[in-house]
Amino acid sequence: MPPVTPLKEVIDIVNEEGGDILKLCYQCGTCTAVCPWNKVRNFIVRRIMHQGQLGLIDFEDEDVWLCATCNNCVKRCPRGVEIIDVMRALRRAVTELGIAKVPDSLRITIKNISGVGNPLGEPEDKRADWAKDLDVKLHTEGTEILYFPCCIPEYDPSVQRVAQATVNILKKAGVDFGILGNQANCCGESVRKAGDENVFKRLVQNNITAFEEIGVTTVVTSSPHCYHTFKNEYPKFGGNFEVIHSSQYLLELIKQGRLKLTKEVNKKVAYHDPCYLGRHNDIYDEPREILKNIPGLKLIELPYHHENSLCCGGGGGRIWMETKSGERFSDMRIEQALEVGANVLAVACPYCLLNFEDSVLTLDKSDFIEIKSLAELVQEAL
Ligand code: SF4
Ligand code: SF4
Repeated sequence: MPPVTPLKEVIDIVNEEGGDILKLCYQCGTCTAVCPWNKVRNFIVRRIMHQGQLGLIDFEDEDVWLCATCNNCVKRCPRGVEIIDVMRALRRAVTELGIAKVPDSLRITIKNISGVGNPLGEPEDKRADWAKDLDVKLHTEGTEILYFPCCIPEYDPSVQRVAQATVNILKKAGVDFGILGNQANCCGESVRKAGDENVFKRLVQNNITAFEEIGVTTVVTSSPHCYHTFKNEYPKFGGNFEVIHSSQYLLELIKQGRLKLTKEVNKKVAYHDPCYLGRHNDIYDEPREILKNIPGLKLIELPYHHENSLCCGGGGGRIWMETKSGERFSDMRIEQALEVGANVLAVACPYCLLNFEDSVLTLDKSDFIEIKSLAELVQEAL
């Protein structure tokens, strides 16, 4: 048996993050039953909630790092326990009290974000390279929209096409928009979920200052994680601006007649609801509406959709951690998309895109299915 120690400091952090929430848990186990991890291994969420109540942390237990913050359990808990906040508090306790080991890959990612403002550890002055041939202006006082692509589409060559397609669409629609260029920092979502509250707060302050200096009033994000963090978490730190996910914004442009989708895209497309757009923010219809506006496109539903969507496995900092073969939710999702006969899996989140592309390669299914962002599909139809 690994050593297990009850710590008052752990209870203090759990109480600080979640108030009285742990008193609400009556150990019914609903959270365990709905957690996607139990499709691939044993993961007793109820037990972790109990550990949090008692201030117990198992030093050698990797469970505290497994939660992908998909929000499935939070939506179903009959007592309204903010389970993700408890997970976050336990990770914070581990990090701040140094009582267990943070997974190496996550530790390096946080160090990268803390040092150079992006998880990949890439140079700050290369952040805007993805836009160098696109003639995109920097946002200045008076610019209508700040387009904030997220670190992954900015730095990862395989995902840059999302940001590039979005820019092409915004230009085509005549939107007055700009980017932050090399001044941007990671929004901090995965840092906070990984339990490093201090680095998160520093990122928030840096971004709010950068936004204020150039008079940002409205932000359009490609990532639901940036969307969620700017919209629901930044206001508590004084960051108040309108936040719109690109799926909402593109649909608005279509409705206003500023984007004319005339070219046929003759594909069977299944849309995957990302956790941070769907279950965290109740945005289900806009992405589907966009797809329905594309001529020739046949929209089909996956076995788990809307509120029941299956997490891709990338939230909660999991995107930066190794997930064993046979335990990847994204592999299951690709199989589900193939079962319903989709030849395109449409995504609205860079994490989903990364995970699904990886799964298509490892499962050797690239002859049968493509992963495309909504922005790319819209671009094809223009
Ligand atoms: S579903 Fe809620 S009340 Fe039930 S065990 Fe999980 S956290 Fe506790
Ligand atoms: S948020 Fe999702 S992954 Fe995390 S414990 Fe709840 S159901 Fe499991």
